[in-house]
Amino acid sequence: MKFAIQSKGDEYSESIKRQMEQYLVDFDVQLDEVEPDIVISIGGDGTLLHAFHRYNHRLKETSFVGVHTGHLGFYADWVPDEVEKLVIAIAKTPIQVVEYPLLEVTVRHLDGGKETQYLALNECTIKSTEGTLVLDVEIRGEHFETFRGDGLCMSTPSGSTAYNKALGGAILHPYIDAFQMTEMASINNRVFRTIGSPLVFPKHHTCVLKPISDVKFQITVDHRTIVHEDVKSIQFRVANEKVRFARFRPLPFWKRVRESFVTE
Ligand code: NAP
Ligand code: MN
Repeated sequence: MKFAIQSKGDEYSESIKRQMEQYLVDFDVQLDEVEPDIVISIGGDGTLLHAFHRYNHRLKETSFVGVHTGHLGFYADWVPDEVEKLVIAIAKTPIQVVEYPLLEVTVRHLDGGKETQYLALNECTIKSTEGTLVLDVEIRGEHFETFRGDGLCMSTPSGSTAYNKALGGAILHPYIDAFQMTEMASINNRVFRTIGSPLVFPKHHTCVLKPISDVKFQITVDHRTIVHEDVKSIQFRVANEKVRFARFRPLPFWKRVRESFVTE
């Protein structure tokens, strides 16, 4: 078994990282930052997002587990007091995993050149770099609406408690293979109309955004922001790949939702 640790970089997270590294090596678990079987993130959900993107080329071989050091820790559900317990679990028990769906984003360009693909663990958002975002929304190849407003958010089920939630989207259990579109301040009046409700897309359904005039967009993928010019279309669907989280004890999703948002 090989492990890698991604830390938020602050002093406290770094000290937990050193402690865990030492314990794991003492238990004959091998440190391997290139091809780890398990990636431990120490910090917050933001740190886990970084860890996911660092190892997203080997999702089949890697599972993730998070320790939170003073952050929300929706994904990162172990606390520093439990690291000894976690180390023993990693060293001594076979890793059990749960798999959550991801969002596949494909950006195509007007010059017909190379397309760019991203995998999102939380969500992808589309905003204009200047003024109102105007886009045609196509669902399964058919025109659905013309969107005018601040932006659109396409969220995974496990990302539905993040940005999506702030936009009034539903919380989706990650056993549902789907993604969800929510609006950011759409313009709705006699002339312009959008659906106004969050939409949930099942597996194999594609949603494609097509520019009407402005072809430059600010696209976020989880914590990352990228500006794309000359955009022809942006396609979304449930990815074939999944993310694997190591589960050394049961922590039902709804319990995690309650502890994060209702009461501890
Ligand atoms: P951040 O500004 O620290 O993230 C905002 C908050 O979202 C943090 O409290 C973070 O937890 C939490 N979070 C991240 N993923 C979550 C999830 N799946 N469920 C519940 N809460 C979650 O920035 P960041 O740490 O780099 O995270 C990037 C994420 O921020 C984006 O993917 C987006 O979802 C979210 N975001 C939210 C809003 C909003 O709610 N209005 C706006 C922009 C971005 P930690 O403190 O543990 O990191
Ligand atoms: Mn954060």
